[in-house]
Amino acid sequence: MKIILKAGREKSLLRRHPWIFASAIQSMDDPSPASGSTVDLLSSEGHFLARASYSPHSQIRARVWTFTDEPVDKEFFRKRIQAAIILRQMSKVESHTNAYRLLHGESDGIAGLIVDRYGDVLVLQSLTAGSEFWKETIADILIEETGIQNIYERSNADVRELEGLKPVTGILRGTIPDLRITINEYNLKFIVDIQHGHKTGFYFDQRCNRHRAGEFAKDRDVLNCFCYTGGFSIHALANGAKSVLSVDSSADALALLEENIAINNLPAERNTSLEGDVFQLLRKFRDENRSFDMIILDPPKYAPTAAHAEKAARAYKDINLLAFKLLRHGGILVTFSCSGGIDGALFQKIVASAALDAGTDATIIEHLSQGSDHPVSLHFPEGAYLKGLVCVKG
Ligand code: SAH
Repeated sequence: MKIILKAGREKSLLRRHPWIFASAIQSMDDPSPASGSTVDLLSSEGHFLARASYSPHSQIRARVWTFTDEPVDKEFFRKRIQAAIILRQMSKVESHTNAYRLLHGESDGIAGLIVDRYGDVLVLQSLTAGSEFWKETIADILIEETGIQNIYERSNADVRELEGLKPVTGILRGTIPDLRITINEYNLKFIVDIQHGHKTGFYFDQRCNRHRAGEFAKDRDVLNCFCYTGGFSIHALANGAKSVLSVDSSADALALLEENIAINNLPAERNTSLEGDVFQLLRKFRDENRSFDMIILDPPKYAPTAAHAEKAARAYKDINLLAFKLLRHGGILVTFSCSGGIDGALFQKIVASAALDAGTDATIIEHLSQGSDHPVSLHFPEGAYLKGLVCVKG
């Protein structure tokens, strides 16, 4: 099956970017290729450019598997998975944890596929027609290459709708008697609910940042906003924080946070878990003249693409401004954006304008980003989405 691109629309492929939009297609020799099937992408002059998966329902109509004229088969995917395993060995992620991202979609050369390792269980998330087409083959390879027998599927992200795919969850391979798995991260334990938790259950991308933020927490009164199951709170408590106020809108996440405090034998009396909306609570704390020595802001994704950037910028500015007001002199703000539509430079500008409007000076002492188990292909800059700043209030 061959797809001929419009003249000039091969440019992104020549830069090795893996997406082809529907609007770039001139003609196809088969009017309706099967969802996820493999297609050749040719220039308007008929030259081979790439081999890709076909997504009939998505605006991203094809995602490249390879820019080389090679077969796309089980051995092809085996090579990609082996390469991903080697990258994780090189970055020595297992020296800090037994739970990490093994396959990070496009950045590991398998568009649309996320595989996270939780000890002896893999959680697979298939997001595109192409990854869906090869899912069973990939599951077999994962078992062969990792030796892990158990795979749970969490293919229930909303983006599947854009691909015309229904949500699928459940055990894909092996037996998993308990869908609550206890993992280790920098010698701390976390219970993860792989069935109901966000994403595949845990936010691995923040692992090194939780550890780093913990190092600043000693003797501080910490406010952890958007705390989920307590990642930053647990690290802060383990590092001797004086108090931690953990805020999230999810009661289930807060219940797990309490369990995580208990299994780590941390002083529960130093933590307060508060269910609520961060935007409202920050205002309430301001009105009550409360103050903190350290504030963590790790909100959800407000701008998946640049089209949402303006509205998202207002939300980021709002919470960062309030946080600067609530910080004591010399206090630390650890602030993040996981929005692909807002790059690091823009995020820094937003935080700067928040400090300005809060009437304070602040100094960046560290730039943070996603962990090395979330690698970024140089040809797929969208893979770099998490940015963080550690700022000290002047
Ligand atoms: N810092 C966490 C991950 C945060 S994910 C960690 O390291 O594990 C973002 C969290 O924000 C989710 O738990 C979600 O429930 C919560 N959330 C989203 N919008 C919110 C809001 N307006 N107020 C409070 N919590 C919110």
